[in-house]
Formats: sequence, C-alpha cells, structure tokens
Amino acid sequence: MKVMDIFATMEYGPAPEAAAPALAWLKEHQPFGLFINNQWQKPASGHYLESISPANGQVLTRVASANSEDVNAAVAAAHNAFEPWSKTPGHVRARYLYALARHIQKHARILAVLEALDNGKTIRETRDIDIPLVARHFYYHAGWAQLMETELAGYQPVGVIGQIIPWNFPLLMLAWKIAPALAMGNTVVLKPARYTPLSALKFAEIVQEIGLPPGVVNIVTGEAGQVGETLLKHPDVQKIAFTGSTEVGRAIRRTTAGSGKKLSLELGGKSPFIVFDDADLDSVVEGVVDAIWFNQGQVCCAGSRLLVQENIADRLYQKLRARMEKLRVGDSLDKAVDIGAIVSEQQLQEITRLVEQGVAEGAQLWQPSWSCPSEGSFFPPTLFTNVSPAASIAQVEIFGPVLVAMTFRTPAEAVELANNTRYGLAASIWSENINLALDIAPKVKAGSVWINCTNLFDASSGFGGYRESGFGREGGKEGLYEYLRPAWEHAVQDTESQIVQSTFQPSFQEPALEGLIDDAEWPGDSPDLTLPAIDRTPKLFIAGKQVRPDSGYSLPVSHAGHVLGEVGEGNRKDIRNAVEAAHKASAWANGSAHNRAQILYYLAENLSVREEEFARRIVQQTGQTRAQALAEVQTSLSRLFSYAAWTDKFEGVVHRPPLRGVTLALPEAIGVLGIACPDAYPLLGFISLLAPAIAMGNTTIIVPSPRSPLSATDCYQVFETSDLPAGVVNIVTGNREQLSQVLAEHEDVDALWYFGTTEGSQRVEFASTANMKRTWVNYGRVRNWQDRVQGEGQEFLRQATQVKNIWIPYGE
Ligand code: NAD
Ligand code: MN
Repeated sequence: MKVMDIFATMEYGPAPEAAAPALAWLKEHQPFGLFINNQWQKPASGHYLESISPANGQVLTRVASANSEDVNAAVAAAHNAFEPWSKTPGHVRARYLYALARHIQKHARILAVLEALDNGKTIRETRDIDIPLVARHFYYHAGWAQLMETELAGYQPVGVIGQIIPWNFPLLMLAWKIAPALAMGNTVVLKPARYTPLSALKFAEIVQEIGLPPGVVNIVTGEAGQVGETLLKHPDVQKIAFTGSTEVGRAIRRTTAGSGKKLSLELGGKSPFIVFDDADLDSVVEGVVDAIWFNQGQVCCAGSRLLVQENIADRLYQKLRARMEKLRVGDSLDKAVDIGAIVSEQQLQEITRLVEQGVAEGAQLWQPSWSCPSEGSFFPPTLFTNVSPAASIAQVEIFGPVLVAMTFRTPAEAVELANNTRYGLAASIWSENINLALDIAPKVKAGSVWINCTNLFDASSGFGGYRESGFGREGGKEGLYEYLRPAWEHAVQDTESQIVQSTFQPSFQEPALEGLIDDAEWPGDSPDLTLPAIDRTPKLFIAGKQVRPDSGYSLPVSHAGHVLGEVGEGNRKDIRNAVEAAHKASAWANGSAHNRAQILYYLAENLSVREEEFARRIVQQTGQTRAQALAEVQTSLSRLFSYAAWTDKFEGVVHRPPLRGVTLALPEAIGVLGIACPDAYPLLGFISLLAPAIAMGNTTIIVPSPRSPLSATDCYQVFETSDLPAGVVNIVTGNREQLSQVLAEHEDVDALWYFGTTEGSQRVEFASTANMKRTWVNYGRVRNWQDRVQGEGQEFLRQATQVKNIWIPYGE
C-alpha cells in the first residue's frame, strides 16, 4: 500500500506506546512488598494479590496483601515520623514537595504507561491529563508548605492521616491526598485501590529516591476489609481522607463517629450537563465526549445526565450519534484509542446490568454499529434517550460510558432537573449567553460548575461535593484546612460539663466598656432570686411566630434549686415544622450581603437596648456575678458586630488556572443548618453560632442549651423587632440530645452543628448519614466562647459555607 492510498482511505492503524520499560520494572520488583519507613517489607500474612491489565486480562504483577499487623506497623512508622516532620521548617518541606514534582515529571512516561496498563485507561489521557495534573498538584502544594507559617498562622498539622483512594484516577487521587497532607506537616498511610496499586508503588520508589524522611509516606496495598478497616479504627490515626463510593463513605462515617477523627469524603456523582438552545452544538458534542467518555465514564464528576432544551434535542442527538460512530474503543496503550477498558470484569457486569435495567424501564438505547474488542473488559459508548427523570438510570451512578438524556423547556425547569439528584459534585452549563449561564451556575447544587467546558481540574481550584457527594475540598486554599487544626485545640482537654460549673474570667476588656463592668450592686432592684418567678412560659419560635409545642408539655428551667421558668418541650413534629419554615426562607441566601449585615447590626442594636435584662437572665441561670454577665452580653454584641462585618467580607477568590479563563471560587451557604447550643454561656454560646450561620445565608433550626435556654428564648422579641425574615431563625427548646438526633436524621437538613456531650457528638455523627450531611461537633470538649480566637472568626465562616468553583473559559 502506498502512502497516497492510506491518505485516500484513512484506514486506522494501531499506534502502540512501548510497554517494555514498564513491564521490565514490574518484573524486577515482583512481588511488591509494603512500603513502610521507606523500605519494602514483606506482608505479615505472606499473601500476595494479582494486579491485572483489564485491556487483555493478563496478570501484570503481584503485590503484597497487608493485614492489620502490617497496617499497625505503617501507622507506627507514620506516628514516629510525625513529630520531626511537623517541626521541619516549611521551606524544607517545600523542597521535598518540589523534588517529588520534579521526579514525577522525570518518570512521567513510565508512570503514564503503568497507569494505562493497570487501569485500562488510555495512554493519551494518562500522558496528557493524569500525570501532568499529578506533578502540578505537588508543585502547587510545595508553595503552600513554603507559605504555611505566615499564611496559615494559628494552625497546626493534624497528625497521622489514613488515606483511602479509588481506582479510577489512581495516581491523581494519591496526589490529591498526599500533597496537601505533607505540605501541612502531616504524615500518611495510604491504601491504593485493589485494582490499581502499581503507580502508587512507583511513587513509593520516587519517595525513596528523593530521600523523603522515612515514615512520612507509607503505602499499604491489600483488601478493603483488612487495610481499610484497620486504618479507620486505629487510635493513632487522626484523620481519614476518603475518595470512593457514597455507600462506603457512609459506612466510614458510621465507623469513625465519635472518635474525634477528622473526616473528608469525596464520593459519587450523577452530574448534569445542561445544554441551552443557543449553545454552540459542535462544541457541545466535543464537551459530551469529554464529559462521559473520558476515562470510560468512570469519573465521579462525569456529565452523565444530558439535559437538553427541547427544541434542539433531536438535532443534538443526531450529531452525537454521528460522533459516537467515530469513537474508537480498544487497547489502553494504543495512542489512537479514545475509550479504553473498563477497570474490571465486575465493574463491566455492573454497567451491563444497569444498562439492561434502563432498557427494561423503557428508555431508548443507542450504541454505535461497530463492536468492541472481544478480549478484555470493554463497553461501547452508550446513549439513552426518552429517559424519565425518576428512572434508575437517571438516578443511579452507572460509572461507565453511559449517557442518559432528558429534555427541558425553560431555564427554571433545567435547574429543577439538574438538582433532582441526591448528589452534587459537578455540573456543566452550555450557552452562548453569558447572562443565562451565570444565572444558572449559583442555582445548581454542585461543587464544580463548568461553563462551556467540562472535566477541567487544577490544583488551585478546590474540588468536592455538595449533598451525598460528600464534604471537604481537595485543592485550593480551602483544601488545606482538611489537614489542619486550630492550634488552640491541642491545649484544651476540658469537657463541656466541667466548664459549666466553673466560673470564668471575663476576658472582654475593650477600654470603652470598662466603666460598664464593675461588681457594684445591681442598680435599684437587685434581683431577688428567692421570689417566685412570674409565670411566663416561652413557646417555640417557628416561621417568625411564637408557637406552642406539639407535645403540649413544658420543661422546668432551674438553677441552684430555684425554678426560673418553663420552656416548651419540642419534639420531632416541631423540628419538622421548623425545617419546613427554614426551607421556605431560603431566599435569605440570595439577598445581598449588605442586607444581611444590616440585620445583624439591627439585632445588636435591639439587644443592646436590653443589656441589663439579658445580663440579669444570665445571672439567674448561672449564678455568675453581674460583671461577668454584663461581660457576656457585651461580648455577644461585639460578636454580632464581627459577623455583620464578615457578612460582606468573607468572599471568594478568582483563580487563574492554566487555561484561558478564570475560576470563581465562591463560598455559598450550605442551606438549612441545625444548631445545638452549648451549656456554657447561655447567650454568648447561642449568638456565637447563630450569627455566622445566618451571616453566610443559611437558615437555621436552633436548639438552645437545655440547662439555660432562657437567654435564647428572650431573643424572640429581639428577632421580631429586627426585620429578620420569618423562618431564618427557628428555635425549638427541649431535650437537646433527642432533638439533635432528629435533626441529624432529617433528610432536608443540610448540615448540623452540635456543641454538647461526648456521647451526643458520636450520636450526631452516626445519625447524619441518611443524606450525608456535614456535621461539626465538639466531642464534649469546651471552647472558651469569650475568647475571640476560639469563639469567632473564619473557622465558623468556613463551617457555614461550602465553596463552589465556577469555571469560565474565555476567548472565541
Ligand atoms: P469504593 O468505595 O468501592 O472503594 C474506594 C476505596 O475504599 C478503595 O480503596 C477500597 O478498597 C476502599 N474500601 C472499600 N470498602 C471499604 C471499607 N469498608 N472500609 C475501608 N475502605 C474501604 O469505590 P471505587 O469503586 O474504588 O471507586 C468508585 C467510586 O468512587 C465512585 O462512586 C466514584 O464516584 C467515586 N469517586 C469519587 C471521587 C471524588 O472526588 N468525589 C473521585 C473518584 C471516584
Ligand atoms: Mn489493574
């Protein structure tokens, strides 16, 4: 055949990447040991597992199967390395991270081949996407190691981190976990996925090569039941960072509940790909290819639900089918292949099962006319049309090259369909009308929103989910806090119940207020606590109204033997009503920050008018001196001012990732937030939690301290006179433990803060898994609410928000 003939026919010819160097490397090391203390160690069990190439079913090598004894040894290594590593100057850590990045680039070729062999993904992707992003992640975090001391002052590393990663981006997920952990001074034990351990083992060799201190990075291969479980339960592991399925994430939340381990979960998705009728359809077609056929659709943020405006749907489907006909499925090492192999036979069966179910449920299936290679695990690109939004293929994460298409008529309907999912990882919006695209972006509940683009990633732009896609971010400055603790936490060991009884020293010493704080007698009528109180039973506060509790019962409030009054005994039904009211008030988040700030100032103004009264109430409930009580009121006023100030200052940033365009990182309200208040500081504890929550646009259901709820219920009148919209703050008094459990289990509560007992903290974390809500609990430990470092600031604002990254490329 002549070259001219080839040009005429454009016949396909394979263009294989050479596997020999990677295979030789595997052979040399076989069988692979466990990487502990920078050494290769034999597994205690003597067992090994095979790692397979899904493109042809061949065994690539054998890797150690660790048991709990091995995991304990790895944790001990990380534990011993922690002290010196955390004290290593940031500049030195930066040099190590920089060296990792450089060496990843030096070994880029073998890493790309290993990844393609082991996972089945195409060499085009591993070479051009996975490995460059891995290097970029280490470079970026070398920078944060360098800057930590000044830019993250007041924070400390967490300790030993247990990291568990999936098989779909083996080395990239490793980088997302290890780079920030090391940059912030932590040490790690990482478990690669069962199907894809090889690139992590090559990385271990790079760790040795650059001379990272032993024990800082430990890599333990093996089965989930042995390695994963041991890591989750190990007392010396201070944090678990997990990427994987929502199902396993849920189990991990339960296992670690109450342990005090920090947790970040990057889970599944069913992301919408929204196409408006003014979109550039040829770009859309290439976008869809990148959204759902990238990495065989085994992508957590894959655009797996195509939502098309009705009037262009048929035209788009036709273009898509034509493009699908030209896609090439085959050997991962062939540089001319678009879609590689599915990671395992088991995953292939699962995809097949879900596709059959889709057909059985009445959706229309379309696949290209050509057939996949018969050897290896392959699945053709697949398009479902005529899909009902409730169909299982529209709801369940298929994790394969399967696209389900639905239509909408109006932008509002598009948003509704987009959000009709339990997940919230990502979304793509396609329209040539920037006004429309930027109007839709904030309305879609997802951590990443790509406008006229899809599946873009960069270390500077955090990635992570809303809802059942998990919590926590990887990348960006926001991702660093997953590997940090406020420095003051290390010192505090007291429990909440201890502090309630102790008297505190007012630390509020603003000069202008000094005159107010003296221990003189109460002016005029000193409160005589022996007199019977005038009967006044505050009700609950729901949807801006004082309402009777459903139970019809009330609970006494007393201090030192004196009954001070009664409060309503709220129950499940009251919580449900409060949650409904909070949802109805969601417009609060969309209003201007200026407006929210005004209302916080107004609350302070109206509270200050009644300073004496609130101080007296604190004295009654706690037996503190007048000066202490006044100081608490003063600090509460100051706190309202702080959050009024923050409302329009806790803003996002504009990233400049390496593309022509920008990423807007916006902190958004989480939504409906439950808050269970601490016993200490009846007013200040309540205000310190309420203020940041509503400042950031959340609507709330607050359970005051059962011991001293009257400071919160006294606020009803303050709320009513401060223009606070109905439903933004709802208050349900009663048994904090029972009510917070109801909040934790509630599917329509998006996050829960709990400041109470050790057992209560565990209960809340355990019960939160129905919708994988974000929780923030104190594990029974105290916080000095009077102290500005502990009692207010960005920690609270971060807990009240989640970052959405909106990618906006530009240029014609
Ligand atoms: P998986 O949840 O089955 O496994 C993930 C990891 O957890 C593996 O290393 C596995 O061995 C381990 N594991 C499994 N059971 C465990 C247990 N009981 N205790 C401790 N560890 C356990 O997920 P997968 O099939 O490997 O990956 C696919 C899933 O990952 C998809 O749902 C996908 O959406 C999700 N994912 C999410 C992201 C993200 O950033 N959000 C990224 C990639 C993949
Ligand atoms: Mn494999």
